[in-house]
Amino acid sequence: MDSYKLFINGEFVDARSGDTFESVDPGSGAVIAQVAKAGTADAEDAIGAARRAFDQGEWSGLAPDVRARRCYEFADQVAAQTLRLALMESMDSGQVIGLSKFWGMLASGTLRNLGYHAATKFPWEEEIPFSGNFLAPGREYIRREPIGVCVGIIPWNFPIAMASWKIAHAIVMGNTIVLKPASLTSITALIMAAAAQAAGIPPGVINVIPGSGAELGETLCTHPDVDKIAFTGSTVVGSDIMRMASGTVKKVTLELGGKSANIILDDADMELAVEGAIFGTFFHQGQVCESGTRVLVSGTIYDEFVERMHKRADQLQVGYQLLPTTHQGPLVSAGQLATVEGYVQVGIDEGAELVTGGRRVRPEGFEEGYYYAPTIFANVRNDMRIAQEEIFGPVVCLERFDTDEEAVAIANDSMYGLAGGVFSNNNARAERIARQVRTGTMWINNFHIFGDFAPFGGYKQSGVGREFGGSGLEEYTQVKRIHLSGAASLKANFQMVNIFSDDPRMDALQYKAPTNVIAGHGTLAGLPQAVVGLGCRRAMIMTDAGVTQAGLVTLVQNALCDFYVGVFDDIPSDSDLATVDAATAKARALGADCVVSVGGGSVIDTAKAVCVTLKNGGEVNDYMAYMRLTEPQTPHIAIPTTAGTGSEVTNVAVIHNTRLDRKVYIVDPNIIPNVAILDPRMTMGLPARLTAATGMDAITHAVEALTSTLAETVCDGQALHALRLMKEFLPRAVANGEDEQARIKVSVAACMAGWAFSTSQVGLAHSMAHTIGTLHHAHHGTVCGIVLPKVMRFNADHAADKLAMVAQALGVDITDMTDHDAALAAADAVEALMREIKHPMTLRQLGVPEDALEADALHALADTATLFNARPVNDPAEVLELLRQAF
Ligand code: NDP
Repeated sequence: MDSYKLFINGEFVDARSGDTFESVDPGSGAVIAQVAKAGTADAEDAIGAARRAFDQGEWSGLAPDVRARRCYEFADQVAAQTLRLALMESMDSGQVIGLSKFWGMLASGTLRNLGYHAATKFPWEEEIPFSGNFLAPGREYIRREPIGVCVGIIPWNFPIAMASWKIAHAIVMGNTIVLKPASLTSITALIMAAAAQAAGIPPGVINVIPGSGAELGETLCTHPDVDKIAFTGSTVVGSDIMRMASGTVKKVTLELGGKSANIILDDADMELAVEGAIFGTFFHQGQVCESGTRVLVSGTIYDEFVERMHKRADQLQVGYQLLPTTHQGPLVSAGQLATVEGYVQVGIDEGAELVTGGRRVRPEGFEEGYYYAPTIFANVRNDMRIAQEEIFGPVVCLERFDTDEEAVAIANDSMYGLAGGVFSNNNARAERIARQVRTGTMWINNFHIFGDFAPFGGYKQSGVGREFGGSGLEEYTQVKRIHLSGAASLKANFQMVNIFSDDPRMDALQYKAPTNVIAGHGTLAGLPQAVVGLGCRRAMIMTDAGVTQAGLVTLVQNALCDFYVGVFDDIPSDSDLATVDAATAKARALGADCVVSVGGGSVIDTAKAVCVTLKNGGEVNDYMAYMRLTEPQTPHIAIPTTAGTGSEVTNVAVIHNTRLDRKVYIVDPNIIPNVAILDPRMTMGLPARLTAATGMDAITHAVEALTSTLAETVCDGQALHALRLMKEFLPRAVANGEDEQARIKVSVAACMAGWAFSTSQVGLAHSMAHTIGTLHHAHHGTVCGIVLPKVMRFNADHAADKLAMVAQALGVDITDMTDHDAALAAADAVEALMREIKHPMTLRQLGVPEDALEADALHALADTATLFNARPVNDPAEVLELLRQAF
């Protein structure tokens, strides 16, 4: 008689206790081999060997392609054992030879296919171009690493397949494994271990320890050196394993029981469907977890189906597994036979109709084997135990349904969800059903089909995790995220500086200038060239009613010539998400490939958002985010019509979310308009009041960009020059709207201020303006102007040097002043400029109610812009005090 030993650390060894057990041929009842029986000490040896092998890195440290080649060698050694594996598989487990003869080839194929996938397709490293955290730039990537020591616990129904699946997944991904085969069927896993030894797989990488699951389970599932458990077997033991593994928080994948529904529609090919139901149930004596043991048949064909299935079942030859005429061999054990007999009695007692089978079979010469006839129950109700519990034998339940919905409902009425089938001549109908059944695999017009690249696993109590394909291999890895900061000094680290430091100003620079600015009298004529330069032919104008009434849209339309396809002029002053979606719908209907925005801040921001939805589809609310767009959006030419809206040529789109009653943002370099045309003709008619207000908006951008915690040198230059230009030309533009030179300079200044804050961000004045603009419908620029000097004084100590520069840019002689005094003088200078241009000086003038200030302060505190304010803003009382000063 053959004898087999444990395989630990690359060697075949006896159990430490010297214990062995007998392996029995279920077809004859004869003992065919003595197998060493592992105990706890042997399990510990195997885990120790696997741990050492993993930690030493001789296998885990190999490059995936090198490892794959070693696995191909192993695969060849397995293939070389095909005949021996087939014979022993049949004798040990009762599988018919017509099936077992394939396993050598299939196991070898799995090793090769998974090795290949791991070497060539698996995303071991993955770049994350944008992490979603716009405050911490740097390289973000994922590394997938082997998980460590894996334990594989497998059942008796497909011993070679189960062993090869568990081993292949573990080792191609660089892990080591301790495999415990089922006690009833240990032999073929040990033959595979010998193949691994012959292939030179390093000692300890694969260990095989036959033995009782009940005795070894605790050690295998609780040992601290084990990192992962992969189990196939019953749901009861699976949940035990999960519980045991929870103590040391191991990763667990479970492939458990099933009670899968095979749905036969009225339009199915009858011959194929009957064969599908026979194959789906009686394959390998029904000892298959994903068998279609509940056959749901349409009422219109039910009777004919039952009759045909009965006939086919009776034709199946039950006999010894090595005989070539046998279709169905023995059950694996006397215990399994008793289970099946018990369930058949339950079915009869429950009132199901026994159509055929329901009895043991005693083939001549093999009377001691555990044979059972193919058994069909008809008129089964889905709430019967035989329809709900896994029998794991050649027993099928036929159930009737009337509509497709009913079939789906019956299929889903189960604690399991492992697999299922649909037979139909209408693919669309079958797929509709397949999508609705809550199960891990659905076959259409087929059954029991596996593939090394197609994931397999269960819903509900049929399991956790998947085997095969990328998802299966991923279960054998850990995910490591590596963040390599792009800022390796404290002053470049926004988070650390902002949260723990009293001086949160940044000292890092990342500047990008993507806009082509065309400024000067008559430059509107350059519009067609700009459109062509962007590769476009179909421009839609976006604007508002006021701009249209002022005749500016006609000017732009004429300038566009044939490239004009239409206009969306319905943008309100505080435009919201619905406006963006409506404009997008119009642009889609017109087939626009380019947007020309003509107007103030609301118009240009709405257009930026439309460029995003036009390019990517969907609704604008899908894209309200920071730094998420990975490529240029639909081209955008901005033509500002107010003094300050050059400041909208930026990376920010601020849109009103009416549901939240808050401003929401897209912040992304990819939304900066491609071209800005600053033609003074477009701002000439702007009333003095609005020239002043939008001018103050731009000045606020410049001052806040200069003093923000992210301020940097390039933007400092832009902001300071913008202030110098504003100081000189804003009063002139207000005094005389026809002053062309003043108009051009103010527009350019506004644009520069916009670029400055695109990188540097803004601060508390903007938080307040966003809040009061949204809650009290006050003009953004006007509020900015009113609160700016108050915020400058608030920041005086934290940004004294920068505010001193502001003072200088606004013409204050600071020679004899301390920075602090110069900072206060800068605030005074802003107020002086406001008086000069007759700008409102208080919120009261705007109609803001005094009793709302407290709530306004809280809102403003939570606005994102406070993040970048020179002085930390954490106290609502301080914000309220500033609002009161401004009131
Ligand atoms: P089990 O789930 O009991 O056994 C599967 C594996 O788990 C075997 O290796 C077994 O070892 C081991 N095991 C048993 N108890 C423990 C434990 N406490 N800790 C760790 N490992 C343990 O399946 P059975 O073989 O007993 O079959 C029972 C039923 O399970 C079948 O009737 C069928 O319904 C279902 N089943 C499902 C399968 C599937 O593929 N999903 C496959 C096989 C069975 P040992 O062999 O020593 O008991």
